[in-house]
Amino acid sequence: MKVTFLGTAGLVPGMGLKITGKRGMLSMMIDDDYLLEVGDGALRNLNAHGADLNTVKRVLISHLHSDHFIGIVYVLFDMMNVRNRKEPLEIIGPKGIAKATQGLMDLCELPVADRQKRGFELKFRELDKAESFDDMDTVRGDHPSEAHAYRIKRNNKSLFYNGESIFTDEVLDLARGADLLICTVVVLEPHSFHISPKDVGRAATKAGVKRIAVVHWPTEFEGKRDDFRRLVQKYYEGEVIVPDDFTIIEV
Ligand SMILES: [Zn+2]
Ligand SMILES: [Zn+2]
Repeated sequence: MKVTFLGTAGLVPGMGLKITGKRGMLSMMIDDDYLLEVGDGALRNLNAHGADLNTVKRVLISHLHSDHFIGIVYVLFDMMNVRNRKEPLEIIGPKGIAKATQGLMDLCELPVADRQKRGFELKFRELDKAESFDDMDTVRGDHPSEAHAYRIKRNNKSLFYNGESIFTDEVLDLARGADLLICTVVVLEPHSFHISPKDVGRAATKAGVKRIAVVHWPTEFEGKRDDFRRLVQKYYEGEVIVPDDFTIIEV
């Protein structure tokens, strides 16, 4: 399984609204068929990477906060207008994702909002507390916006992704023994509903995962990625990867 990091930036470093200038907002591709999170401007890095959006069958969203989701409208419009897509696309995420996606397209007054003009069908799957289907398992976590964690299994390898939920027992259970844990790390010190380097390091140790990749990290560590890696390594002995945009990891 191949993970391509398209955007690794966060939105609220130090909980102040400082958006990084250089990296793209959060988005990743699993092999060439799953798009995981579509932060603002995800399309820019998808195109810069030369990704073929016609091969994407599913879009997986952890939660509806804009830094994980708002880029969807550009991706859908591009699928219609540039790729001339005909195949259905499935969008998976929390309760309300169908209404939010349609609402965004409507608000932007783009022709993609219209099923006939769009030319391809959108299928939505709104996740329950815990689900298992095809190559994935999901579990609802705990965050001010309903957030889900995903575990994807392919070729006997497993990838676990937690986009912003705190590590509840259920989230930790789903992470157990994963070959790669990808997690957002937004804050430096433990916080009531965001993950710090200490939280992710401890969770990875408890869950016995093989490797960690941390994304969505504070802007102040731009150019100091080794320093950020060390903050996590205080609590986890395995390999910690701090990917940049366009980093590729084989799982
Ligand atoms: Zn959030
Ligand atoms: Zn976020």
